[in-house]
Amino acid sequence: MNADNDHPYRGLTIYFGTKHHKEKAVQEAFSRLGITVKAVSIDTDSFGTFSGEIPRTGSVRDALQNKINEVIRSVPDARLILASEGSFGPHPAFPFSACDHEALLLWDRDRNHGFFVDHVSSETNFFSAELGRDDAPDEWIRRCRVPTHAMIVQAKDHPSIIFKALTSIDRIRAALQECMDASPVARAVLSADLRANQNPTRMKVIGEAASKLAERVASRCPSCKVPGFWPARAERGLPCGDCGAPTRVILGDHWKCEECGFQELKLRNVSPTADARFCGHCNP
Ligand SMILES: [Zn+2]
Ligand SMILES: [Zn+2]
Repeated sequence: MNADNDHPYRGLTIYFGTKHHKEKAVQEAFSRLGITVKAVSIDTDSFGTFSGEIPRTGSVRDALQNKINEVIRSVPDARLILASEGSFGPHPAFPFSACDHEALLLWDRDRNHGFFVDHVSSETNFFSAELGRDDAPDEWIRRCRVPTHAMIVQAKDHPSIIFKALTSIDRIRAALQECMDASPVARAVLSADLRANQNPTRMKVIGEAASKLAERVASRCPSCKVPGFWPARAERGLPCGDCGAPTRVILGDHWKCEECGFQELKLRNVSPTADARFCGHCNP
């Protein structure tokens, strides 16, 4: 990223609604643009927790917007506000491996404009396992990456008995004992603590999402200079190497400025022509 000394956000502060120190993950990406990130402690758990005591409702975008509104309530004159939302589950492309899906929304109140970024990574210790009295937890403790990553232990069918931020094997064993004693079925549920401050792997993935976001913010419209010039859609039609007709292979990306409407087709230039097997004329 080149230094852009007259970027309109240079010298500004981003107010980030987080109570799990996610600002540490995004600071570096934005300091390269001369933007400071300040954490605003909002009670993000009221919007839902990973361990499920408070269910999440609505879409990711709704959750992000709610967090942004919460920051505005505590910093009424903030211009730039950031919110983040993570979700975990099977990888969309590789269903047998888990993934961390991080979404970031940066809101510019002066422009009434949001920059949204999505990032999916298979780097995660996300898991959930149920243990009975005869099951050894060792394999799960290793998989969770304790002690650098924390674990959660919860009583099966008695969810209010829950221990979070466990980073010592002794404490995990004690929590398992207590949860099995409290559970009506004598079982405990083990999972990774996915809160960013308990999970350096998640912190790193949020940092990657922040780099994408910062790159997007750094990109300015060639015409009106407003930040956020970005590909809006891909364009197919790379010419066939045999007959020259447009194929279904991607030719380039249509970049569009949401402020002034300026558009530009940027060629991907991976290859000047497409293989004839993708051509509707040569290989119908
Ligand atoms: Zn523009
Ligand atoms: Zn052809």
